[in-house]
Amino acid sequence: MKITDVLTHHLSYDYTEPWAYSQAWYTKRQTLLVEVRTSDGLTGWGEAFGPPEVTRAAVQSVFRPCLIGAEAEQIEPLWERLYAMSRAYGQKGAVIAALSAVDIALWDLLGKRTGLPVHVLLGGCFRESIPVYATGMYYRPVPELPRLIELLVEEAQTFVSRGFSAVKMKIGGRPWNEDREILRAIRAAVGAEVGLMVDANCAYDARTAIRIGRELEAHNVLWFEEPVPPEDLEGYLEVKRALDLAIAGGELEFTRYGLRELIARRAVDIVQPELTAVGGLTAGKQVAVLATTFGLRCLPHMFGSVVAQAAALHLAAALPEIPFSLRPSEVIFEVVRLEDRLRDDLAIEPIPIEGGRIRVPKAPGLGVTLDPKKLDRYRVS
Ligand code: MG
Repeated sequence: MKITDVLTHHLSYDYTEPWAYSQAWYTKRQTLLVEVRTSDGLTGWGEAFGPPEVTRAAVQSVFRPCLIGAEAEQIEPLWERLYAMSRAYGQKGAVIAALSAVDIALWDLLGKRTGLPVHVLLGGCFRESIPVYATGMYYRPVPELPRLIELLVEEAQTFVSRGFSAVKMKIGGRPWNEDREILRAIRAAVGAEVGLMVDANCAYDARTAIRIGRELEAHNVLWFEEPVPPEDLEGYLEVKRALDLAIAGGELEFTRYGLRELIARRAVDIVQPELTAVGGLTAGKQVAVLATTFGLRCLPHMFGSVVAQAAALHLAAALPEIPFSLRPSEVIFEVVRLEDRLRDDLAIEPIPIEGGRIRVPKAPGLGVTLDPKKLDRYRVS
């Protein structure tokens, strides 16, 4: 199965309303899909995190020339070759996001070629469906705090009414005394039974994160995500040692090398590789093995289209329990916001979420079929 072509698709649409997390406002949803074609007529799909103009350049000018004519089944040799040839200017960031897209497409192809879903190729299926948690409560363009609280509480209640057993909110985008009010209102609205996580997206230094983390503990927060930037490993360690609640992170790190110290020094409790950035399913599996070897939970991060969603689901299905028992701590799966057209409106059939659980695709490869008409609708020409 020789690779005959590598195509890129820049998809985009404007949000009906801008939103923010602690670092930036967003008005546009966009992503880059990569399509790898082979000599036997099969097509594999992958996705790259980050600005499509940048990742597209890396796919087309750096990786495509090496991929044409290569054997598509040779996933790990290709990964190592592409990583080594781009090392001088790569190792992290958009270059590895581009490599991630290629890698995910090759896994999709291998599955289609063998007739097996990707989670079987990754080692097998520990779970056929996975409980979902909702990531939402992003900041809205509403300056008045009472009105913002009203909107975010309403959003959290909608998640709960749709069967999500846990919700994750953003902090760090407004002063802590305001974020604290939002947190209190959401906790009061969803009740004590619903899991509540917070994500600071690297908004704090270690000392501030510890002070805020102590308050989060009082509200029975399940985990504190990205309290400090990933560059501040010592900061992560200080936060983790000072607090009782679980610390999560890793979505902004790249490859097994990038996550090595975070894992080996146990700077987090929950490792969250983003497959479209970390180096695809190949790197995601390596990071998961590293994490579980060091006794840490691995819960893939997910902020992509249906392609990224399927990839993350296959890895999540193939993760062992840490530790194994009759009642292990559950693997839970991230679903961002209520609606995302690139996730919910790109495949011929979206991946179903029912009763608070999402089903792991069983069809060969990633198990999703993209609708060409819908691709045309979102493609930037
Ligand atoms: Mg996050």
